[in-house]
Amino acid sequence: MILTYKVKHNRDFSEELRKAKQVAEFGIKYRTISSKDVSQFGLKSMISNQILRKYSKNKKVKSVKSVKLTIPNQGIKVDKDIRNIKIPCVKLSLYYQFPVFEKINQIEIGRDFAYISVTVIEKETQPPINYIGVDRNTTGHIAVVANPETGKIWKLGKKGLHIHNKYKNIRKSLQKQGKYRKVKQIKDRESRIVRDLNHKISKKIVDIAIKDNSGIKLEDLTGIRNNTKHTKSFNYSLNSWSFYQLQMFLEYKAKIQGVEVVYIDPHYTSKSCSRCGLIGNRNGKKFKCTCGYVDHADVNASFNIALKDINIDQSIEERDSIEGNTDIPKAALESYTDGSFV
Ligand SMILES: [Zn+2]
Repeated sequence: MILTYKVKHNRDFSEELRKAKQVAEFGIKYRTISSKDVSQFGLKSMISNQILRKYSKNKKVKSVKSVKLTIPNQGIKVDKDIRNIKIPCVKLSLYYQFPVFEKINQIEIGRDFAYISVTVIEKETQPPINYIGVDRNTTGHIAVVANPETGKIWKLGKKGLHIHNKYKNIRKSLQKQGKYRKVKQIKDRESRIVRDLNHKISKKIVDIAIKDNSGIKLEDLTGIRNNTKHTKSFNYSLNSWSFYQLQMFLEYKAKIQGVEVVYIDPHYTSKSCSRCGLIGNRNGKKFKCTCGYVDHADVNASFNIALKDINIDQSIEERDSIEGNTDIPKAALESYTDGSFV
């Protein structure tokens, strides 16, 4: 699997980036792939070569806005013992915190960040005996996890709802004042915070699965947003993209660790009783059943998810098509800029 990590480089590369843009523009104009043709711009030939290969061959590209400095594998030295990456041709040294990887494919340097593309070797997926259930459509958490084998419950990301409400209110008042640029800034800030939370929560869920020797069961929430016939709809307590992001993060983190992720039909997961299977009475955060079972509605739902049969056809075919989705590496882009290890 290929993942891209984003690391802040704290260096001023404006001069080199300006040259890189000139090289790309020259490449687009003359369609050359020889770095000798662009030596007048004064950029290292190793980098020019990469830029020309990217831009000169792409006939669709007519102009460029910003061009990153691309360093191929041969130009990168890694010392895994001290977690250091050296790029001699631009005299850059980077400290990295991301987990084990096989090799670095390339590094792209932009104004503030270095985008490090690495190949990660995945562990072989073992078919699990049990599953933990993850409810993402909860009343107050980003995810509620349950293991029916042990009866254990984890409520994760309580901050999520608070963050969402806080930023929603700020956005509303800014919108009223007509400060649209500020609205965008606030949106971006919220996205970064939620993304960080989703990284931590997905890692935690994978850790639980490893510790409990389980697979992970999720509801297949694709298309639920626009389908009113479904028994379950998004609470909109959180952004719907956040559900999908958590899923993407969970999928790739689980895959690296060899943990199976499967999907179930979300019908009745919040209405049926996880103890007897009958339709119970759900009132806000409370779930009550005629069999006597009373529990937090999200806990009951996550038990149901864990216990529900997998629709085999759906889980295999749909997952394959998601894996083939080219958006994943982008979604999997991790941020370690604040020094947090997720
Ligand atoms: Zn019951």
